[in-house]
Amino acid sequence: MAAITRLVRHSSSIFYLGSRCLSSAVASEANSHATPFNFHLKPHLQRKDPKDRNVQWVFLGCPGVGKGTYASRLCNLLGIPHIATGNLVREELASSGPLAAQLSEIVNKGQLVSDEIIISLLSKRLAAGEAKGESGFILDGFPRTIKQAEILEGVTEIDLVVNLKLREDVLLEKCLGRRICSQCGGNFNLASINIKGEDGNPGINMPPLLPPAHCMSKLITRSDDTETVVKERLRIYNEMSQPVEEFYRSREKLLEFDLPGGIPESWPKLLQALNLDEYENKQSAAA
Ligand SMILES: [Zn+2]
Repeated sequence: MAAITRLVRHSSSIFYLGSRCLSSAVASEANSHATPFNFHLKPHLQRKDPKDRNVQWVFLGCPGVGKGTYASRLCNLLGIPHIATGNLVREELASSGPLAAQLSEIVNKGQLVSDEIIISLLSKRLAAGEAKGESGFILDGFPRTIKQAEILEGVTEIDLVVNLKLREDVLLEKCLGRRICSQCGGNFNLASINIKGEDGNPGINMPPLLPPAHCMSKLITRSDDTETVVKERLRIYNEMSQPVEEFYRSREKLLEFDLPGGIPESWPKLLQALNLDEYENKQSAAA
């Protein structure tokens, strides 16, 4: 309800909305609750009852931290979509959607896709999801700036922002260890990280992700995975993301999560931090 109400409020200004998905979303909402739309409710009055509250989360994290991997695992566990804005742009480009022509012009000229276009794609995606009865989402790669975070706040309510962090030296080593198989396109990582704990800090152990023998001789390194480029990428990311983190910290929505290592160590701890460890046990017992 909250998301749709605010979508409607914005539809006349900067947001394009697919009329079909919006009207069906509105119709299904209206039918199920039989309440008239009120365009002027304050956001906090629109909060859902906690028991049937959606998961409406954002994942933040610098390039190479594994944000997409954790977000997509959680989405599988919770049965909700993993929405990456990069994919929304690619899907729109591949479709004959209303923005496809405009987008391909922007992309061909090498320009950045504007916040307005990203938000309109996202609004359309969220409205379609709500119409289909999706019970939430995890956003990956958005918002990147305060301006985007502010616009997003007008479109839907985010209840939690998970900020995935990894020690910078480990991150650098991991990024430099990335390899792609030039034949099958497989992604691997040769970095073997084994840092002993000291001064009360826990150690970090991340085994390499080695390719099968037949890929070994065909591995290539991405041209932008050099130490200089990776460090610069991290610096730019930190500079851009700090205000966004602060934005959500001040709203008490930011969960900082230091990855303790690779997926085997990190996944159970992440579930604990999200109060989902029991949920996963139930799911695996039922399976
Ligand atoms: Zn291969």
